[in-house]
Amino acid sequence: MSEAGQQGAPHRVVVIGSGFGGLFGTKALRRSDVEVTMIAKTTHHLFQPLLYQVATGILSEGEIAPPTREVLSGQRNARVLLGEVTHIDLERRLVTSQVLGRHNVTPYDSLIVAAGAGQSYFGNDQFAEFAPGMKSVDDALELRGRIFGAFELAELGAARGEDVDHLLTFVVVGAGPTGVEMAGQIAELARRTLRHDFRAINTRTARVVLVDAAGQVLPPFGARLGEKTKKALEGLGVEVRLGAMVTDLDERTLTMKYKDGTVETLDSVTKIWAAGVQGSPLGRTLAEQTGAPLDRAGRIGVNPDLTLPGYPEVFVVGDMIALDNLPGVAQVAIQGAKYAAKEIDGRLRDKPAQAPFHYFDKGSMATISRFRAVAMVGRLRLTGFVAWLMWLAVHLVYITGFKNRVTAVLHWLVSFLGRGRSERTATEQQIFARAALERLERGASDLVSDPGAYADKRAADESERRAALESRALEEARLTDAGERGVKVGD
Ligand SMILES: Cc1cc2nc3c(=O)[nH]c(=O)nc-3n(C[C@H](O)[C@H](O)[C@H](O)COP(=O)(O)OP(=O)(O)OC[C@H]3O[C@@H](n4cnc5c(N)ncnc54)[C@H](O)[C@@H]3O)c2cc1C
Repeated sequence: MSEAGQQGAPHRVVVIGSGFGGLFGTKALRRSDVEVTMIAKTTHHLFQPLLYQVATGILSEGEIAPPTREVLSGQRNARVLLGEVTHIDLERRLVTSQVLGRHNVTPYDSLIVAAGAGQSYFGNDQFAEFAPGMKSVDDALELRGRIFGAFELAELGAARGEDVDHLLTFVVVGAGPTGVEMAGQIAELARRTLRHDFRAINTRTARVVLVDAAGQVLPPFGARLGEKTKKALEGLGVEVRLGAMVTDLDERTLTMKYKDGTVETLDSVTKIWAAGVQGSPLGRTLAEQTGAPLDRAGRIGVNPDLTLPGYPEVFVVGDMIALDNLPGVAQVAIQGAKYAAKEIDGRLRDKPAQAPFHYFDKGSMATISRFRAVAMVGRLRLTGFVAWLMWLAVHLVYITGFKNRVTAVLHWLVSFLGRGRSERTATEQQIFARAALERLERGASDLVSDPGAYADKRAADESERRAALESRALEEARLTDAGERGVKVGD
């Protein structure tokens, strides 16, 4: 591997992504003699585990998505570039990114790819229109609008004497941690938070249905915790449907098929997709160039030291990788990125290579409702209030930035000790913009002029104006020469 870009120039590290892998990888290089360029398609770092609290009005988006530029402002060897990476040329060591039609090519000596994963609809991408996933701030704000909006529409309908059951039925697909947390929070909204706010509807009659094709809730937590979580959810009024595969959904309904062949259709306007992930499409670009395998979820197979076959200067970390059945959790991304950063630094100092990457499992947890969670730490299995306190402490530690921690605690006090939600605001654009943007061929780029297009237009306008002036001058000269106007030149 080339130790420096050019003779004497600092070693250039490009990091793709500003999520857990990208941010922790960049920070781990703060004392290294390198120049880090982080390229990400959003300007923020996102704490995905708390997206469900943005969607249900507990936290603001800013609290879980601080600007990466601000987070890294004190790290002198790091700079941040906004852009969606569209291509990685492994032979020429170039990363191409674009934002609103502006293209940028960034060379590297070492590369850390941490582009994460998106939502998978298991081949039914048409479901996305009516059942948004929960992967981004946009998703959470859209869901917030849809959830609170459904209660508003139900109030209007009920006041006119109409049937509003379809508006007051919320279906969450996927009984992993995100699905459990969403279902629990919507149930709390309906039964606690909103119960005095409406006149024509009784929000406590809202149905919350949690659906999963698997036979238990929270499969990675084991059968016992899964069963306890199911009981706790049912205690909150959530209907849990297991062994049920969603086969179809549209604006108004969701159809599922049980293992015994029975088919059930629910009338529901608000559906939330919390099942399935698909590795970043950059995985395919890398696989095509290296021959590395891609698994069914589009995750790329990497060497035990997280590098790509044949390209020791390229590390891939986090949700994008398929290695030893590692789970798609934040700690895999954080530890992988720190490992890659240490290896890059070590090579520059001529240190021997590290042992293969080893993931240290610090445990998993999920909240069910206020004061109730499940946690799995080593052999310890916890449920209820103690697990919830643990959840609180861990999330406080990992929320980025002191001011975000302070405001998050205040918002949690409002929601957990009181019954309020400080962040219920939702705008029409938040609800409908995604669908509208998806109808444009090139997304947001279609809404702005291409860079250069304005300059081209100005040049075209200018030459048109010049041509018009010249032809007018010629006509004036002809009229004057013919003595038809003014004084003939030469008289
Ligand atoms: C709703 C939800 C709840 C979760 N809860 C938990 C939890 O409780 N505990 C836990 O441990 N894990 C949880 N996870 C999983 C955890 O968030 C992920 O495992 C972790 O974020 C993976 O980190 P990453 O760096 O690989 O990817 P991400 O954190 O997803 O970061 C990917 C980054 O790459 C950027 N990017 C993507 N494509 C491009 C591109 N083409 N060009 C430029 N930039 C790009 C993105 O903008 C983003 O900045 C949850 C995930 C979700 C979605």
